[in-house]
Amino acid sequence: MLRPKAVLPHLTHLTPDFLRARGLKGVILDLDNTLLPYGAEVVPEEVLAWLQGLKQAGIPIYLLSNAKPGRFRRLQALLGLPGHAPAFKPWFGFRKALKALGLPGREVAVVGDQIFTDVLGGNLVGAYTVLVPPLAEREFFYTRFIRLLETPFRRVE
Ligand SMILES: [Mg+2]
Repeated sequence: MLRPKAVLPHLTHLTPDFLRARGLKGVILDLDNTLLPYGAEVVPEEVLAWLQGLKQAGIPIYLLSNAKPGRFRRLQALLGLPGHAPAFKPWFGFRKALKALGLPGREVAVVGDQIFTDVLGGNLVGAYTVLVPPLAEREFFYTRFIRLLETPFRRVE
């Protein structure tokens, strides 16, 4: 129940071809640290392009987030996608999302960065769960990595 069906290095790897090959016809998408860094109000350009690609391929997307309603509504308006928040994942929200998409769980990819909300909740409704690395932490990790590389050069001679 806590294992994702797939682990992808980035959201953009979830292409229409990837979905079609697995019989997936819709996507339930997490917001924070999946679509954009936690607390951010701007969606990265590559993510907007990826969303556009799915829309053009006729794949419906539903945003399911535990974010506060005000921030969620602003981002939802920006993206022009159906969805609701706060969803109280993993226990709530997924059935409503499937109903809105008009698809059974087995035909839907649930995509998110957290095991105990996105993966568990998606698995509970029989969806194809996809785990992606959290955006904010990835940046944090990258920063730490660079600092580590800098360490030998930070000493005063
Ligand atoms: Mg998240």
